[in-house]
Amino acid sequence: MPLYKTKAIVIKSQRWGEADRIVTFYTEQVGKVRGIARGARRMKSRFGSALEPFRLVELTLFEKNIESLARISQVDITGSFEGLRENLRLMTAAARIVNFIRAVTPDRDPNHAVFLALSEGLSTLETVDDPELCALLFQIHVLGHTGFRPQIDSCTECGRSAGRVPVRFFVQAGGVMCLMCGERSSDRGLPISPGSLAFIQQARRLPFAKVTRLRASGQIRQEIEQVIETYVEVVIGRSLPSMNVSSQSSSQFNRFSRSSKEYI
Ligand SMILES: [Zn+2]
Repeated sequence: MPLYKTKAIVIKSQRWGEADRIVTFYTEQVGKVRGIARGARRMKSRFGSALEPFRLVELTLFEKNIESLARISQVDITGSFEGLRENLRLMTAAARIVNFIRAVTPDRDPNHAVFLALSEGLSTLETVDDPELCALLFQIHVLGHTGFRPQIDSCTECGRSAGRVPVRFFVQAGGVMCLMCGERSSDRGLPISPGSLAFIQQARRLPFAKVTRLRASGQIRQEIEQVIETYVEVVIGRSLPSMNVSSQSSSQFNRFSRSSKEYI
């Protein structure tokens, strides 16, 4: 019976049956993996609060074979991003980060860069004054480490360098196209200026700890928000919950706060 012991971050925790939980982790050793925690919802469960989203844990998993659901045998909390529960903006951005990871990473495909970015992303988020930008930078950075890396340095059709000709971003093509090639496409594409292209390249290239020093405002902010939101939606086949929280009321926050423990 294989046994794994690995650092892990809880990215989803669901009630299961009478007293159990099914928990999705992003782990250092095995990538994204789900496991069942028997009796986790009993009053005196040995798991305590270790299975709530955003926990950094040392996880021990048992599995009979790769097809069956692994059994969570032990979880020790080694860190927690408690500050993320303090307000709706932070929690919405944190939820975006873990939902994004869940959607774009395949099961059991370890990727150290992704694990590191997730761990640094959640801890950095607690300290930034612009959580929406932090979540956006996180998505750009991680996309660069997955099979969904958008092609932004040259036209996806003719290969001409994006530095030499004006381009637009075409989500279905997975990157930019020059205006001539873009004319043959069924949609108009999204505007993306040389400044936005340079910004995305930097966000990919820098280690994530440095990425959050990048600032974007005005046209660049607007363009990258639109391009990345639309692209991620196409890549994962559905839209993630909105990042615009300014119109949400405090009663919604309380509901969200309670439900985040269960459903993220
Ligand atoms: Zn072209």
